[in-house]
Amino acid sequence: MTRAKIFIGWIIATALLGLLLGACVVSDMVSGSDGGRARNVILFIGDGMGQAQVVAASYVQSGQQGADTPGLFFEAFPVLGYLTTHSEDSFVTDSAAAGTALACGIKTTNGTIGQTSDGVRAQSILEYAHGLGMATGDVTSVQVNHATPACFASHVESRQQYSDILDQYLADRTAEVFLGGGLAGDDVSIDDVAQRAQSAGYRWIGPGEGEQLLTVIPGERLFGSFDENGDGHLDYPSERRELQSTEPHLHHLALAAVEALSADPDGFFLMVEGGAIDWACHANQIQNTVDEVLELDRTIEAVCERLEEMGRLDETLIIVTADHETGGLTLPGPYRQTLAETTSPEFAWSSGNHTAIPVLVWARGPGAEALSGRHDETFVVDAIKAALGR
Ligand SMILES: [Zn+2]
Repeated sequence: MTRAKIFIGWIIATALLGLLLGACVVSDMVSGSDGGRARNVILFIGDGMGQAQVVAASYVQSGQQGADTPGLFFEAFPVLGYLTTHSEDSFVTDSAAAGTALACGIKTTNGTIGQTSDGVRAQSILEYAHGLGMATGDVTSVQVNHATPACFASHVESRQQYSDILDQYLADRTAEVFLGGGLAGDDVSIDDVAQRAQSAGYRWIGPGEGEQLLTVIPGERLFGSFDENGDGHLDYPSERRELQSTEPHLHHLALAAVEALSADPDGFFLMVEGGAIDWACHANQIQNTVDEVLELDRTIEAVCERLEEMGRLDETLIIVTADHETGGLTLPGPYRQTLAETTSPEFAWSSGNHTAIPVLVWARGPGAEALSGRHDETFVVDAIKAALGR
């Protein structure tokens, strides 16, 4: 063999090895290490977070366009699909029907939580995981008993039954962790909920006590509500100074939940909702929308970093999606100008409510590949059950 041929052979062998290693890294990100089964599942839901909300956040953050845009952390997940969102009785869903689809895998009517339109209770994926002995958590940036988290741990005819939802949380105790940016309902008293949560074995963390999230002990039950000013959500960054807010951020809540749940030998299921994205979109407030999407992204990145430190990242199926789009947000400009020549994209809203545009789903970890392509929201539960494989 000539020296040239040996050299070419060496180059080909090196290239093949590189391809092989690259393929292993990618397949590990998708399938994980435990024979393709997920030990843990985290479902992140950006309420109202359509594709325009995601790209708006990444363009505003980077000031760059097209392939130059670094994108959000979760946009780099290896699996991408999209989900249709219609409810049983409406082309445009609400968060109760969409939350029921994502949580329970069934279609129901707008306003209904965790049951069919004729009142038959549907098991949520959180309750399913609880039944397997897994630790579970229900976390949101809006009220603990608001529609989306309610769909994972309660079953009521109307999303307005806020006190019934709380009663079911505390009676059923299917989740070890309930954390949110407030408590909904005119007839709900925070002192009463605090007292009942403690009687039910939860460590209560109230408004002004957010620093307690930093000292969570693995295995402990947490019930927290952090609203200091009655707006029902963790304050937007844009208003924190004026409100003199000391409320924690969504990533603090999510990290505390991971800390509390991760020690369970059977693994854990955690739902984390960026609920205030929807509220900012209903009000057509682009800055708050972008800030809330960025906070959800920061939360996902912080949780992935913590799981990596724990050696648990590759055994965890992580799904990021939305329940529906809100606001009909689009990016009509600039036209015939690059983003570099302006300071920000132009934004336009076409609705003050939700729209029927499908939402995207990103995933990584064992079983993630099932979410590639076009599905309905009800399929997410099937994908999670298949990934758990038990
Ligand atoms: Zn909404």
